[in-house]
Amino acid sequence: MIYQMNGLLTKEQINNMNTFFATKEVREERLAICNECPLLYKPTMTCRRCMCFMNIKSSISAMSCPEKKWLATNKSLEAGVIPKDLEMKALEIWELIKDKKAPNHKVKKEMIELYNTIYNANYQTNTNCSSCLQACYNGIKRIKESFD
Ligand code: SF4
Repeated sequence: MIYQMNGLLTKEQINNMNTFFATKEVREERLAICNECPLLYKPTMTCRRCMCFMNIKSSISAMSCPEKKWLATNKSLEAGVIPKDLEMKALEIWELIKDKKAPNHKVKKEMIELYNTIYNANYQTNTNCSSCLQACYNGIKRIKESFD
């Protein structure tokens, strides 16, 4: 889905995105490498080295593996296009946070990391700042509403 049309992302955010999200093929290649890596904690798909959620990190073109097992890429989606997997992740997280309270630390961290990824933001994933958390909540909610 292209998000400028429904106002989910501002024009400035889209311009900043440029080569932001990796193609599906790149993402799948990266995840295949992670899946063979002993540093991956599979139950949460978290890398024990960088502590990131790999289902999210693998979608960002400019990211690379801290062990250099996969590198940054310029094979990216068109600016403003958010990968289907991230949209699905946002819908999944929405179901867990819609009552305005994340059920546990993992969901809270995942919500913030997903928000940072989609909106090109930089909130600390361990923040307890209520306005930061509200911004993340609203961002995930906007994605959910774009499907209504
Ligand atoms: S990002 Fe690198 S170190 Fe981390 S799980 Fe994936 S391959 Fe392993």
